[in-house]
Amino acid sequence: MKISDVKAVYPKYQHVGKSWRTHFWQIAVRVESDAGVVGWGYGGGGVGAVEVVNRHLRELLVGRRVNDVDDISEIWDDLYFACLPYGRGGLAVMGLSGVDLALWDMLGRAEGKRVCELLGGVRRERVRAYATGQDIAWYRDLGFTAHKSPQHRRDRAEEDRGRILAWAAEARRELGPEALLMVDAYMSWEADFAVEMAAQLASQRIYWFEDVLLPDDLEGLAALRPRIAPILLAGGEHDFTAHGFARLAGAQALDLWQPDVTWCGGLTAALRIAALAEKHGIPLVPHRGGEVWGLHLLAAGIGEDLAELVMGRRGDSRDQVWLGAPEPTDGYLCLPEEPGFGVRVNEELL
Ligand SMILES: [Mg+2]
Repeated sequence: MKISDVKAVYPKYQHVGKSWRTHFWQIAVRVESDAGVVGWGYGGGGVGAVEVVNRHLRELLVGRRVNDVDDISEIWDDLYFACLPYGRGGLAVMGLSGVDLALWDMLGRAEGKRVCELLGGVRRERVRAYATGQDIAWYRDLGFTAHKSPQHRRDRAEEDRGRILAWAAEARRELGPEALLMVDAYMSWEADFAVEMAAQLASQRIYWFEDVLLPDDLEGLAALRPRIAPILLAGGEHDFTAHGFARLAGAQALDLWQPDVTWCGGLTAALRIAALAEKHGIPLVPHRGGEVWGLHLLAAGIGEDLAELVMGRRGDSRDQVWLGAPEPTDGYLCLPEEPGFGVRVNEELL
């Protein structure tokens, strides 16, 4: 089949007040083939990425053949090359991510297969999920045994320290001695603060510290890594393509990689990043991997058995851009049964 149309849309979000979408600007991308098959993907980069897809990538895509995953890989290389002068990362690659995922979805639907099957088949019937957010009691009630807390530094070190220690004590008490506990600093900590917190949190056995420093500070990250061991230094949601992750590997900047499948260049890029991670012995836990775009990768046995769900708080209103997305059961996620990624776009938001 050949691509007959491509269109990116910025959804009409209603509940952006407390939502991560306020910041992350996710876009929906629709591709259609001359066989009448439609695929949908999720990208980042907001209205800027919509323009990149509709006014640049579209004209390169219409007429291209998509009969197998190698065709998608070739298309990826051509699109990356085309937008490279203005975007080897950031919103151009976030737009490309949406296109790539839409092509995988379209191919899966054309063949009546789930994307996971295009990746070699289901190797994990269910994937352990971790809950990101501030509502420990809710995550406990839902059966989660893994949790990450955003801990951005706000005030004086003393107050930040107290808040983080109180979170860890409560999370350990509520979620149990075997629970995985992680902290996301969102680039708001200094290296010395991270070292101090690693020491003070030693008895709580924290799994990783995420996004401690700016992603550009490869030397600083590499120097920090051994100082917080055995806590792992995690990051990668702000890095793009296998070229970007190769630089992380070269600098030995991180212990654990977290590419975002809807930002890093789509599934095609994520597969290349995963191959690089395996070569370097680095565990891979995709950012927001509990959404279908990353979940198929994890269910295919690629990366660790750990899928992030950004949960927020009990009772929060959320925009459902994708209908049929899997809900966690006892802290685990299973893939939808339908072909492609197995979700439908919510037309009301388009
Ligand atoms: Mg993060």
